[in-house]
Amino acid sequence: EALVELVGVEHSYKSKGGPVPALGPLDLRVDPGEFVVVVGPSGSGKSTFLRVVSGFEHPSGGAVRLLGRTPVPGRDVGVVFQQPRLFPWQSVGANIGTALRWAGVPRADRPQRIVELLDQVGLGALGPRRTWEISGGQQQRVAIARALAAQPRLLLMDEPFAALDAMTRERLQEDVRTLTDDGTRGVVFVTHSVDEAVFLASRIVVLTDRPGRIALDLPVPLPRGAG
Ligand code: ADP
Ligand code: ADP
Repeated sequence: EALVELVGVEHSYKSKGGPVPALGPLDLRVDPGEFVVVVGPSGSGKSTFLRVVSGFEHPSGGAVRLLGRTPVPGRDVGVVFQQPRLFPWQSVGANIGTALRWAGVPRADRPQRIVELLDQVGLGALGPRRTWEISGGQQQRVAIARALAAQPRLLLMDEPFAALDAMTRERLQEDVRTLTDDGTRGVVFVTHSVDEAVFLASRIVVLTDRPGRIALDLPVPLPRGAG
């Protein structure tokens, strides 16, 4: 079964001068286990594409299906943005706990799930720390843990490492690359960086602008990221 299916999806923004075409029409299917990296120039519709796939923006035309159904914003899809958007007054663990509460995980199960999620993103012992005490890379790892809290089958990542220094970025790239390894989950990852795309992707989708269309859709031969 397709993880995500876009059929004839197009989107225009309303403005005083009339509708601004931003995306499509386009068709796209993503299967579980795929790590799809979307690249394209500024204005090619990458952010619009992510908002439509996550269900936060209802497309002007066409249909988005996630496992055959309309995605429910904030529930079916995990999203990681360029800025981690953590709650600064909460500890690292509490940030994840809040996401678990939103995901409907019972209070009694949360401590164990927090430990598992911290482990999964390589933050083992940082649960009690305040978010302002940890580095930018660690904060982005917390954001990834939060996005995984509801165990979404689809994870969307919008330039998540663009604000990090090169070394931190490389470590995070190596770690998120494994997110699709068990074949149950799919990742759609937006970046400006061709290097990042080639390193991460099992498939690269190139968007062009006016309005955003798929110009290229290429599988990346395994092993991923050679060179
Ligand atoms: P990208 O993420 O690739 O930079 P966007 O999806 O942000 O592309 O934008 C695609 C097009 O839609 C651009 O022409 C942009 O100016 C326009 N656009 C994006 N968001 C809005 C909005 N809220 N209102 C009007 N136009 C928008
Ligand atoms: P990015 O480069 O990360 O896509 P932008 O600076 O292009 O971010 O856009 C920031 C926000 O402004 C986005 O939410 C986008 O949808 C919105 N936006 C972009 N273009 C327009 C526009 N022409 N009119 C209104 N909002 C826009």
